[in-house]
Amino acid sequence: MVKDFDFPVNAYIGGKWHKTAKTFSIKSPYSGEVVAEVADSGIAEAQAAADAAVEAFKSWKKLTAFERAKVLRKWNDLLIAHQEELGRLTALEMGKPITEAKGEVLYAASFVEWSAEEGLRVNGEIMQSRFPNKRQMAVYEPVGPVYAVTPWNFPTSMITRKAAPALAAGCTIILKPAEQTPLCALYMAKLWEEAGGPAGTLQVLPALDPVPVSKVLMEDMRIRKITFTGSTAVGKILYAQSAATMKRISLELGGNAPFLIFEDADIEKAVHFTMLSKYRNAGQTCVTTNRIYVHKSLESDYADALADAVSKLEVGDPLNASTNVGPLVEQQGLDKVVSHVEDAVSKGAKVRVGGKSLGGLIYAPTVLTGIQPGMRVLEEETFGPVAPIMPFEDEAQAIAWANSTDYGLAAYVWTRDLSRAFRVAEALEYGIVGVNDPVPSAMGSNLPFGGYKNSGLGREGGHWGIEEYLETKFISFQLP
Ligand code: NAD
Repeated sequence: MVKDFDFPVNAYIGGKWHKTAKTFSIKSPYSGEVVAEVADSGIAEAQAAADAAVEAFKSWKKLTAFERAKVLRKWNDLLIAHQEELGRLTALEMGKPITEAKGEVLYAASFVEWSAEEGLRVNGEIMQSRFPNKRQMAVYEPVGPVYAVTPWNFPTSMITRKAAPALAAGCTIILKPAEQTPLCALYMAKLWEEAGGPAGTLQVLPALDPVPVSKVLMEDMRIRKITFTGSTAVGKILYAQSAATMKRISLELGGNAPFLIFEDADIEKAVHFTMLSKYRNAGQTCVTTNRIYVHKSLESDYADALADAVSKLEVGDPLNASTNVGPLVEQQGLDKVVSHVEDAVSKGAKVRVGGKSLGGLIYAPTVLTGIQPGMRVLEEETFGPVAPIMPFEDEAQAIAWANSTDYGLAAYVWTRDLSRAFRVAEALEYGIVGVNDPVPSAMGSNLPFGGYKNSGLGREGGHWGIEEYLETKFISFQLP
């Protein structure tokens, strides 16, 4: 049943809530019910948003960083005050268990808090000059109006990870949220409006089909940056499209994270680690452990202990506070998980626990052993609650297997040997390495997040995150 929301489910353009000719349905992945009919933006809305972003940029960039920080701080406070509502919307529109979803809202707010502060530290530099009569300096300026495209799996934090540093730097931003999760985006825009965010600084274009909206904004020379989080396939399309107007680009793309468990590992801790890294958000995180390589001496004990822990996970309604694993976001995601497990089993893998759909879009948390090279669970991002375990002989083999992928977002290591910890962390070709740390990026608004190779370009978080929204201008003064 379509719910009554206390915010407009329209496009948010130039500070106005705009009704569109068409709408599209948002369904709860758990109950299958339609929960909202949301404005469906197209070419006209994208053009109007581009004009408004360009207009708003003129005055937003001229505010002092201190004035912009004031609005951001209010937005941060409002996001935290509405943690419960945003958590519920997340659970409703994409199925993340509510306890986890509320945690994500705090993570989302932390980018706003950090960016409000970091914006105040965007200072320039005065350089030494080779000429006695010259004074030479580098100043930073906002890159311009930004187009942001975000995924469904973190419907609040993927927005603030982009919008907060962009706005703090003095850019304006047009957001196209994932078609599965426009509700969180619109709610956050309402809070931006309440915080005093001027018209046109943050705009939201929900759309069922991303292509027409994207085409307008990607072809518009006035939009100076594209920032994208999502699949590698779409990231490459946007990368190619950005060349025509030479936009600055940031890409946070897919992963295929390995977890290496060495022979000196504490099995109980390694299992606890796996539970945190693998089954959060039903395995639908870009940094989720996708492949587990365990030293052959521990394989059997580790697999037994992991299967036991996984069998105790509570699976079901994401709106229930005790649920650990909810549904997958949509049928396509479930089909991929099913096909990965079927492929592994047909090639000799054993199902230790799970290995089946439980009705609707729920897939049972699963542990697989007997994994062999050539199985899809090793080579592709499964994006589901499936842990494939494969034994290795020695450190060199473990590192080689971990690096044998075109992706390079996150990798994990468990060892008690300090030399090995450094050796392996340095050998892994990944943007993020968790050594005995299953959640290295937890509350990491001050830390660099991003990947090597097909996992993307640029970093979000910390000073790296705000630099993505700044141009460097060199000014030279020649004295008479
Ligand atoms: P997706 O690429 O299908 O969709 C992401 C966004 O791109 C959505 O808003 C969608 O509407 C839009 N989109 C799709 N086709 C487009 C096109 N042709 N032009 C413009 N926009 C288009 O990805 P998804 O399935 O929603 O998200 C899951 C993927 O995101 C996984 O691969 C995951 O690893 C990755 N991800 C990466 C990070 C990171 O920080 N590296 C974080 C979260 C998710």
